[in-house]
Amino acid sequence: MQAMKEKILIIGGGIGGLVCGAILAKEGYSVCILEKHTVAGGGLHTFKRDGIEWETGMHVISGFQSGGVLKQLFTYIGVADKLRIKLASRDGFDHFHVASDGITYKMAIGRENFVETLGSYFPEEKENIRRYIDKVYEICNSVALYNLRAPSADIHINLEAMSISVNKMIETYTNNPKLQALLAWNTTLYGGEKDKTPAYVSALITQFYIEGASRFIDGSQQLADALIAVIEQNGGTVLTNTGVRFIDIQDRHVQKVITDKGQEFTADWYISAIHTSAMFKLMDTTKIQKSYYQRIDNIPNSYSAFTAYITFKPQSFPYLNYTGFYAPDYDEVWKCAEYTDENWPRGCMYLTPPITNNDSFAQKMIVNTIMNFDTVRQWENTTVGKRGEAYKDFKKQCENKLLDMMEKVFPDIRSKIDNIFSASPLTIRDYFGTKDGANYGSVKDCNNMIVLNISIRTKMDNLLLTGQNINLHGILGVPLTAIATCGELLGLEKLLNKINTS
Ligand SMILES: Cc1cc2nc3c(=O)[nH]c(=O)nc-3n(C[C@H](O)[C@H](O)[C@H](O)COP(=O)(O)OP(=O)(O)OC[C@H]3O[C@@H](n4cnc5c(N)ncnc54)[C@H](O)[C@@H]3O)c2cc1C
Repeated sequence: MQAMKEKILIIGGGIGGLVCGAILAKEGYSVCILEKHTVAGGGLHTFKRDGIEWETGMHVISGFQSGGVLKQLFTYIGVADKLRIKLASRDGFDHFHVASDGITYKMAIGRENFVETLGSYFPEEKENIRRYIDKVYEICNSVALYNLRAPSADIHINLEAMSISVNKMIETYTNNPKLQALLAWNTTLYGGEKDKTPAYVSALITQFYIEGASRFIDGSQQLADALIAVIEQNGGTVLTNTGVRFIDIQDRHVQKVITDKGQEFTADWYISAIHTSAMFKLMDTTKIQKSYYQRIDNIPNSYSAFTAYITFKPQSFPYLNYTGFYAPDYDEVWKCAEYTDENWPRGCMYLTPPITNNDSFAQKMIVNTIMNFDTVRQWENTTVGKRGEAYKDFKKQCENKLLDMMEKVFPDIRSKIDNIFSASPLTIRDYFGTKDGANYGSVKDCNNMIVLNISIRTKMDNLLLTGQNINLHGILGVPLTAIATCGELLGLEKLLNKINTS
């Protein structure tokens, strides 16, 4: 007789919940994922507007190149060969445009290529760039999970890299203020904040993209769909339109969860794959240790964003095989979140997502910039589609300001546009369910790493956490955390062994 499978119930079908679900279903658990939206995927989800497909939160990716950490993970899960991915340009996967002196710097794929290319703009600093990049790689090598190793006694995460901020670390390698800004060109990819973001966060993201920056061809939903297929093939279920309304806790043990429709689900183990603040809202918090709940609930969140979605007239705008970053001046690189009504936006990031057969012309462009929730707080009590005329006007003004900025790089861009619409921090809050529409969940602060740490194990003996709030966000952080979460049930070393030998 076959042993009864242990039951796992996962709250939230974003990349965190889906990767956990796929791993655990493959490893013989009975998996059920409850997802509140009509389609699972969270930040992987794509939506259609006027026949064009748009990504919501997974535009720039990496790790899928041969030997890449995600290639290895998704080979083990069994979906790597199903994903359609386009490597960004080797000569410049990121272009950093500084308006004040009109220079566009290229960040190249490959460790040596990166040093040589950036070094060509600063020949006298080339050795400093090399030493900095060596440090970045050394830090990455010390992060066990990033290398699919179990944390062990032999090698620990570089403590210096946890307790020093990115900008301070950069300053120890070069005194050149332009180069200091350039080495922090991608701060918006990791919610970077000056004097706060630990150096290891920047090191991981920087090295990750240097090794294989890329994008999904035809959108990120394909990864969610492939993971759902693995879960279902292994007997699991992903129930959409099924939001969790209540998590019933008795004696530090989750008894059951109740959905918006009143259905009750029980399991041996529960995994929360949603924002921790959103999770606490689903619980009777008087039943949880107050100091634990309050510490985690009070962790500040990263900033939010305003995104413009642009459709081009056919064959009018070139396809860009890179992500562009625009800064008015070098010293603006850390200041995007410190704006007034007059000087917003203080920079932006843009890309033309690839679709099948579009090597020459772009169908669309996504322009993303930082926006704090306070900017839209006056509409905080409104819901999607019912925010009123003043909000629509506000968004139109923001779109125009972003286009003014884009015109500095592409002077004739307005004449090529067929359509434009946008999303604000309210959209992110209401769609992702993150507090104040935080792009990347809770902040990482090198001055306070212990207090801000959220561990996978909780005060409830059968509730584990996963998702972007724990460790690191995005296509790198969330799947790695999913491995750690599943490792709590399967044994981390055993799981890593399987991943490494796939
Ligand atoms: C505008 C934007 C752009 C971004 N761009 C990038 C990028 O280019 N590259 C990158 O790597 N990262 C990017 N990110 C970050 C990335 O999207 C996230 O880190 C990642 O998607 C988080 O995954 P997750 O599984 O932790 O959470 P989510 O993807 O938010 O998934 C949580 C899921 O839980 C569901 N849920 C919430 N509450 C409930 C409930 N009560 N019951 C049931 N289900 C519930 C939600 O509907 C959602 O599907 C971006 C984020 C934003 C906002």
